[in-house]
Amino acid sequence: MTPHTDGPGAAGRVLVASDLDRTLIYSAAALELTMPDPRAPRLLCVETYEHKPLSFMTEEASGLLAALAARALFVPATTRTPEQYRRIRLPGPPPRYAVCANGGRLLVDGKSDPEWRERVRERLTECAPLEQVRARMLRRAGAEWLLKERIADGLFAYLVVERSLLPETWVKELAAWAGPQGWNVSLQGRKIYAVPQPLTKSAAVAEVARRTGSTLTFAAGDSLLDADLLSAADVAWRPAHGELADSGWQLPHVRVVPERGVLAGETVLRRMSAALAQPHGATEGG
Ligand SMILES: [Mg+2]
Repeated sequence: MTPHTDGPGAAGRVLVASDLDRTLIYSAAALELTMPDPRAPRLLCVETYEHKPLSFMTEEASGLLAALAARALFVPATTRTPEQYRRIRLPGPPPRYAVCANGGRLLVDGKSDPEWRERVRERLTECAPLEQVRARMLRRAGAEWLLKERIADGLFAYLVVERSLLPETWVKELAAWAGPQGWNVSLQGRKIYAVPQPLTKSAAVAEVARRTGSTLTFAAGDSLLDADLLSAADVAWRPAHGELADSGWQLPHVRVVPERGVLAGETVLRRMSAALAQPHGATEGG
């Protein structure tokens, strides 16, 4: 396969893989705008759902992302299904590659790659079947806090919950049961995900790196489902909010930006751009 180059020089070999929700884009509930109103950043709506604005980034972040995507291979890496991903209208050119369904789908020029799908299917035979995990989640869920339950792309399950009524230990107990079954559990906003352990964003991003001949990978993410993505990258960033922050998760090559909420997304992009501007995407500094 011919290596895909985006932009000049060393930067063309840098792959920038980033989680979307609560890393680059934010719902109104996740913005965490704590400054006085007149100083709040202007926001760009990048997703509309059922005719209503749903996800935002700052105007500044939008410009940074468009510039970054022109200089490096920007690969969105999300737990969203392809359908949910396609609602997002990111600034800059449409990404050539996108990782959806937590690595279950690799979109190439917007289309699901069948070869990748097949490889994922083979890997999932190692863990307990989806139906068993879903049944356990539903059996233990409380009618007073369970709002919706969904199967994503035939690969994993999630619940939409009323957070204020969710018992504090429920997610921990599910995770303790699911681990030995080969499944991971993640709580993000109003959603509780159960995802098979072999289904990772990092595996799909590694495949993109292989296909494109990328030699350096930057990554960003905020939740437990991003830990493998950040671990596998050469340099990574995470916000001061989210599951990784709450659990104090840290690695030497993972930098923590000081902001929370939508401003963290902007800072992540600024730091990535600065790192990209250094020769060979240098791995020094913040
Ligand atoms: Mg996220």
